[in-house]
Amino acid sequence: MERVARQARNEALHREVNERLAQMDKRADASWATDGETFEFLCECGAGDGCDARVRMTLAQYEHLRQQDDRFAVAPGHENLRLERVVTRTSAYVVVDKIAELEPYVADDPRGAPSH
Ligand SMILES: [Zn+2]
Repeated sequence: MERVARQARNEALHREVNERLAQMDKRADASWATDGETFEFLCECGAGDGCDARVRMTLAQYEHLRQQDDRFAVAPGHENLRLERVVTRTSAYVVVDKIAELEPYVADDPRGAPSH
Protein backbone atom coordinates (compact mmCIF):
# COMPACT_ATOMS: atom_id res chain seq x y z
CA MET A 1 0.00 0.00 0.00
CA GLU A 2 2.89 2.42 0.69
CA ARG A 3 3.94 2.40 -2.95
CA VAL A 4 0.39 3.05 -4.08
CA ALA A 5 0.09 5.91 -1.61
CA ARG A 6 3.29 7.48 -2.92
CA GLN A 7 2.00 7.23 -6.48
CA ALA A 8 -1.24 8.91 -5.49
CA ARG A 9 0.72 11.73 -3.86
CA ASN A 10 2.85 12.17 -7.00
CA GLU A 11 -0.31 12.55 -9.01
CA ALA A 12 -1.60 15.20 -6.65
CA LEU A 13 1.75 17.03 -6.93
CA HIS A 14 1.66 17.07 -10.72
CA ARG A 15 -1.88 18.34 -10.53
CA GLU A 16 -0.69 21.36 -8.56
CA VAL A 17 1.97 22.09 -11.18
CA ASN A 18 -0.68 21.84 -13.88
CA GLU A 19 -2.92 24.23 -12.00
CA ARG A 20 -0.16 26.83 -12.19
CA LEU A 21 0.46 26.11 -15.88
CA ALA A 22 -3.22 26.61 -16.62
CA GLN A 23 -3.22 29.94 -14.80
CA MET A 24 -0.18 31.13 -16.77
CA ASP A 25 -1.64 29.94 -20.06
CA LYS A 26 -4.84 31.85 -19.39
CA ARG A 27 -2.93 35.05 -18.83
CA ALA A 28 -0.80 34.46 -21.94
CA ASP A 29 -3.78 33.90 -24.19
CA ALA A 30 -6.93 35.79 -23.27
CA SER A 31 -8.87 34.17 -26.10
CA TRP A 32 -8.43 30.67 -24.69
CA ALA A 33 -12.13 29.99 -24.30
CA THR A 34 -12.98 30.36 -27.96
CA ASP A 35 -10.16 28.80 -29.91
CA GLY A 36 -9.02 25.20 -29.81
CA GLU A 37 -5.39 25.88 -29.01
CA THR A 38 -3.78 23.16 -26.92
CA PHE A 39 -1.26 23.57 -24.12
CA GLU A 40 1.20 21.13 -22.60
CA PHE A 41 0.44 19.75 -19.16
CA LEU A 42 2.41 17.26 -17.09
CA CYS A 43 1.26 13.68 -17.25
CA GLU A 44 -0.43 13.04 -13.90
CA CYS A 45 0.17 9.27 -13.81
CA GLY A 46 2.52 9.61 -10.81
CA ALA A 47 4.85 6.82 -11.94
CA GLY A 48 8.07 6.39 -9.99
CA ASP A 49 9.57 9.70 -8.90
CA GLY A 50 7.43 11.55 -11.41
CA CYS A 51 6.62 11.04 -15.04
CA ASP A 52 8.06 13.54 -17.51
CA ALA A 53 5.58 12.80 -20.28
CA ARG A 54 3.34 15.64 -21.45
CA VAL A 55 -0.28 15.69 -22.41
CA ARG A 56 -1.80 18.29 -24.73
CA MET A 57 -5.19 19.68 -23.83
CA THR A 58 -7.11 22.85 -24.49
CA LEU A 59 -7.75 24.94 -21.39
CA ALA A 60 -11.45 24.22 -21.76
CA GLN A 61 -10.71 20.48 -21.60
CA TYR A 62 -8.47 21.06 -18.60
CA GLU A 63 -11.12 23.10 -16.80
CA HIS A 64 -13.65 20.37 -17.43
CA LEU A 65 -11.26 17.79 -15.97
CA ARG A 66 -10.70 19.83 -12.80
CA GLN A 67 -14.38 20.06 -12.00
CA GLN A 68 -13.95 16.79 -10.11
CA ASP A 69 -11.03 16.54 -7.75
CA ASP A 70 -10.44 12.82 -8.19
CA ARG A 71 -9.85 13.04 -11.94
CA PHE A 72 -6.44 13.17 -13.57
CA ALA A 73 -5.08 13.55 -17.09
CA VAL A 74 -2.40 11.06 -18.11
CA ALA A 75 -0.57 10.29 -21.35
CA PRO A 76 -2.15 7.49 -23.41
CA GLY A 77 -0.87 4.16 -22.07
CA HIS A 78 0.00 5.65 -18.65
CA GLU A 79 -3.30 4.77 -17.06
CA ASN A 80 -3.00 2.30 -14.20
CA LEU A 81 -6.15 0.24 -14.05
CA ARG A 82 -5.25 -0.96 -10.55
CA LEU A 83 -5.64 2.60 -9.28
CA GLU A 84 -8.11 4.23 -11.59
CA ARG A 85 -10.70 3.76 -14.29
CA VAL A 86 -10.74 5.46 -17.67
CA VAL A 87 -13.35 8.20 -18.10
CA THR A 88 -12.29 9.69 -21.46
CA ARG A 89 -9.74 8.48 -23.97
CA THR A 90 -8.42 10.58 -26.84
CA SER A 91 -5.29 10.31 -28.97
CA ALA A 92 -3.67 13.08 -26.90
CA TYR A 93 -4.65 12.22 -23.33
CA VAL A 94 -6.62 9.87 -21.10
CA VAL A 95 -8.79 11.11 -18.23
CA VAL A 96 -8.90 8.71 -15.30
CA ASP A 97 -11.03 8.62 -12.16
CA LYS A 98 -9.45 7.41 -8.89
CA ILE A 99 -10.92 4.32 -7.39
CA ALA A 100 -12.74 5.23 -4.18
CA GLU A 101 -10.32 3.84 -1.59
CA LEU A 102 -7.50 6.10 -2.81
CA GLU A 103 -9.45 9.34 -2.61
CA PRO A 104 -8.23 10.18 0.90
CA TYR A 105 -4.72 10.56 -0.59
CA VAL A 106 -5.78 12.98 -3.29
CA ALA A 107 -8.53 14.89 -1.53
CA ASP A 108 -6.48 18.02 -0.94
CA ASP A 109 -7.58 19.61 -4.16
CA PRO A 110 -6.18 23.15 -4.47
CA ARG A 111 -9.61 24.41 -5.52
CA GLY A 112 -11.59 22.34 -3.05
CA ALA A 113 -13.77 20.96 -5.83
CA PRO A 114 -16.50 18.68 -4.55
CA SER A 115 -16.36 14.91 -4.96
CA HIS A 116 -16.62 13.58 -1.43
ZN1 LIG B 1 2.91 9.33 -17.17
